[in-house]
Amino acid sequence: ENTANKIAAGEVVERPAAVIKELVENSIDAGGRNIEIEIVDGGTNFIRVTDDGKGMSYEDAQLAVKRHATSKIRTAEDLTAIYSLGFRGEALPSIAAVSKFTLTTRLLDEPLASYVEIHGGIPVDVREAGAGCGTTVIITDLFFNTPARRKFLKSPAAESGHISDIVTKLSLSHPQIAFKLISNQRLILSTGGNGRLADTIADIYGHKVVPELIPVEYSHDGIAVSGYVAKPAMLKSTRQWQTFMVNKRVVNSRMLGKALDNAYFSLLPKNGYPLAVLDIHIPVDAIDVNVHPQKKEVKFSDDQKIYRAVYKAVSSSLTLPAS
Ligand code: ADP
Ligand code: MG
Repeated sequence: ENTANKIAAGEVVERPAAVIKELVENSIDAGGRNIEIEIVDGGTNFIRVTDDGKGMSYEDAQLAVKRHATSKIRTAEDLTAIYSLGFRGEALPSIAAVSKFTLTTRLLDEPLASYVEIHGGIPVDVREAGAGCGTTVIITDLFFNTPARRKFLKSPAAESGHISDIVTKLSLSHPQIAFKLISNQRLILSTGGNGRLADTIADIYGHKVVPELIPVEYSHDGIAVSGYVAKPAMLKSTRQWQTFMVNKRVVNSRMLGKALDNAYFSLLPKNGYPLAVLDIHIPVDAIDVNVHPQKKEVKFSDDQKIYRAVYKAVSSSLTLPAS
């Protein structure tokens, strides 16, 4: 069981940013409206994720760290399910197998929280505790018992860059949630969570980008594309400022990047990468369910159709009279 967890950990958690993605997605799934992430040294020594979501009972807190103890239904009804099918119920036990892990969680209507502590997959403490509603997971000494993996970690600055990327994208895909990211005691990202994407973009990239944003609103033949691209004054040297979502879940897709570029630069000389936050809304059956869970790229059953929709969405928003 513990070996299985350690092996599974290799698939789920390759670096601190992957741990944070799993924990924050759990916080989102639990209905958290305020999610705070704290890291020390790029998460290599300390990670904390706190949410004000629904929390867990004493029994569920112990179940949550056992393999395949998902409370989430195993259907392909949304991209979440499709994406993490292979990982259902594996994140917490996998992370706990390769770290010193504590979970403190309290249901709204319970007077006491539950506390579970696990070191390298071995439970060392389970008890009731005092705490606010919601859930806090703390991870210290990630990969302390898997030295090969620990060695594979990059510098704290590089790991912290990955984390900031992932938290940025999770924030942009959830404008209704207030996120905070604290790195070495410094607040490095904070979003207001008022539900407006333009405000979240401003929280992240600064208020001076707002007048540069061009709204994208497009819908045709069952595919809707919405969000913002920025004017050419805001061109960047990498794709880091591009966030793509499919049905509101952050995805990686070279094809989507190409569609954006080709539309954007059909009228302009190519000179960098536009800042963009785009959500593609498509029926679930248009996403390829056979995609391997480890694959970070989303696959569509009809790439061409999605490409055309994104291309048209972007090019039509660029040719509208500028405001
Ligand atoms: P999965 O998310 O695939 O179900 P995880 O290992 O990530 O698997 O989590 C296991 C279970 O623990 C979840 O199904 C959920 O019931 C519970 N859980 C995890 N994190 C939280 C949280 N922050 N708030 C409430 N419940 C949580
Ligand atoms: Mg999960």
